[in-house]
Amino acid sequence: HAKQMGGNCFKFYSADLPDPKVDRLHLENELRRAIAEDQLLVHYQPKLHLTSNMITSAEALVRWQHPVRGMLPPADFIAIAEETGLILPLGHLVLRLACYQASRWLHQGPAAIRIAVNMSVQQLRQPEFSAQVADILREARLPANLLELELTESMLLEQSAAVTANLSALQDLGVKLSVDDFGTGYSSLAYLKHFPIHSLKIDRAFISELDDHSRDSAIVRAIVAMAHSMQLQVVAEGVEQESQLAFLRTQGCDEVQGYLISKPVSAEALTQLLERRHRDSQRQLAGRAQRS
Ligand code: C2E
Ligand code: MG
Ligand code: MG
Ligand code: MG
Repeated sequence: HAKQMGGNCFKFYSADLPDPKVDRLHLENELRRAIAEDQLLVHYQPKLHLTSNMITSAEALVRWQHPVRGMLPPADFIAIAEETGLILPLGHLVLRLACYQASRWLHQGPAAIRIAVNMSVQQLRQPEFSAQVADILREARLPANLLELELTESMLLEQSAAVTANLSALQDLGVKLSVDDFGTGYSSLAYLKHFPIHSLKIDRAFISELDDHSRDSAIVRAIVAMAHSMQLQVVAEGVEQESQLAFLRTQGCDEVQGYLISKPVSAEALTQLLERRHRDSQRQLAGRAQRS
């Protein structure tokens, strides 16, 4: 087809099809403006602690309230943010918003919730990163142990001085570190020896096809056993079905997260969910006291 069009084929393409380069530049400029103009917001997905049946933490997940395209998920803009370096101001913004929200839950109620924030390796490569975290915690009046940073296996395998220095400074601050999407990255577990990891989040890929006969159930069982023998907490992500929850309970998984418990929701919606759960548990306690 292009050949038939002869010399005009370039014009043909540029007129009728979006040029991916122009598109990306446009998106980059829009994202830069979005960061400056408060179009980014954070939704929160609770994690349920199984033995206490309490919501003890929540993960911060960024959203873009686009003026024309509506609410955009991270899949639509994190890659371009990583490529352009905009992930640094974006990551800083998400960290601040999440810490201020966790501080509100702590100081104004209904409950102290640990907040987990997803990291980009570019943030950890910034020599001043751990000092920035300390500043945010102080300004937000949030104790360091109520902040958790979700890292990936590849970040922990990076042999960079800045990353290593940041991780040990964060440990000294008292910030918790967890490994996200555990099991999908590298087969080396050497980093578990070197870094002060608090918990492993088993990737959704192993949870979604869980049933007693699958290989996934053997993998999950093995991860839980290994984590517990190293005094690490285990979280399962992407729990959608009661049968998955039941299996994870029998395996002694510490926390679960997924649509079965709650989708990621606005801060206001999570506040209401926490208040409702708090009232229900008070009522149960009162009922128990009356019966005894
Ligand atoms: P992630 O950290 O592994 O987060 C889990 C993703 O799975 C979230 O998608 C969440 O909404 C989704 N999810 C949770 N439970 C279920 C479930 O039961 N079923 C299914 N099908 N999905 C579930 P989301 O919010 O679209 O985020 C996607 C990814 O974007 C995150 O994966 C994380 O890697 C990245 N991300 C999100 N926020 C940030 C951020 O502030 N900074 C950075 N660097 N990355 C972020
Ligand atoms: Mg995560
Ligand atoms: Mg994850
Ligand atoms: Mg994931």
